[in-house]
Amino acid sequence: MLDVIIVGAGPAGLSAALMLGRCRRYVLVCDSGQPRNASSRAVHNFLTRDGISPKEFRQIGRDQLQPYTNVELRATTVTEAVREGNSFAVKLADNSIHTARSLLLATGLIDTLPNIEGFSQFFGAGVYSCPYCDAWELRDQPLAVFGQGAAGEALALQLLQWSRDIVLCTNGPSQLDAREIAFLTHHEIRICEEPIARLEGFDQQLERIVFADGSVLPRRALFLQTKPQRRVELLEKLGLKMPERYQQPIAPGVFMAGDVYQTRWVSGAVADGAELGVLINKELQKEDLTRSYRSFKEE
Ligand SMILES: Cc1cc2nc3c(=O)[nH]c(=O)nc-3n(C[C@H](O)[C@H](O)[C@H](O)COP(=O)(O)OP(=O)(O)OC[C@H]3O[C@@H](n4cnc5c(N)ncnc54)[C@H](O)[C@@H]3O)c2cc1C
Repeated sequence: MLDVIIVGAGPAGLSAALMLGRCRRYVLVCDSGQPRNASSRAVHNFLTRDGISPKEFRQIGRDQLQPYTNVELRATTVTEAVREGNSFAVKLADNSIHTARSLLLATGLIDTLPNIEGFSQFFGAGVYSCPYCDAWELRDQPLAVFGQGAAGEALALQLLQWSRDIVLCTNGPSQLDAREIAFLTHHEIRICEEPIARLEGFDQQLERIVFADGSVLPRRALFLQTKPQRRVELLEKLGLKMPERYQQPIAPGVFMAGDVYQTRWVSGAVADGAELGVLINKELQKEDLTRSYRSFKEE
């Protein structure tokens, strides 16, 4: 039986695998190849790797696990997970079954986008959710913000740090009161309530927003708040729910790391994975020492 099965080989899962590998734990890491930032061209704000492509970042992570022969990486989906007494059984896409003493879910999340033509196509290449990740490259450029009410207003004001040419596109009624509108106007942020028909661009790069009335707004990029959906299918298959407050393990032997649980950054996910690696190792060691102490007393 394995010590740990890690579901997800993004920054969180790979970081946990490195820590556990160095603890001489027997680990299986499975990944279905759909990382959150798959559409992004570059990872920013990760010291020593600023600007690296997400693909290369993960490849370096996988390469650095090579010397740890006690860690196996598989490109596959974990389709089922069940508790069997004090251990867990998981089923992979090829129907093979693997058992482990503990389970780390590092499955990430999915950003749900508005159902408007072009949003998915340009996500990560002109449509962004995080100014801290992507706005520096777009400094002083014409930008749009997609959003309504206080959330749209806050994001538009936040982006002033990077550009003074901002249009808030509310895709219908702005849901802003007179004071909010006056404050945005004071900062020369234009509000456009016309519904968006589609986003257009060239060579995977956003160039303009086309509105329902046929008008066109040239923009280098559009920022929005996505609706994040945690990938908790396996947690539910184990009969568990997301805890209301931070707790690890989520249930005996079940741990979560990275964006699926609490982080929103590559650096945060890496740190979280490392912390969880230590925690899982300590829990396993506690079990081993308790068992050995019991048999020692019985001798
Ligand atoms: C467009 C965009 C740009 C971004 N830019 C930056 C940036 O510049 N800097 C930054 O710090 N952060 C950035 N982020 C955020 C960053 O992508 C995440 O914080 C980070 O990827 C979280 O790592 P993770 O390991 O938790 O999840 P992920 O990287 O999403 O990895 C989760 C993995 O789990 C796998 N998985 C899920 N379910 C299963 C299953 N059942 N079986 C097997 N595998 C499974 C998935 O395939 C995936 O590979 C960006 C996000 C987006 C959307």
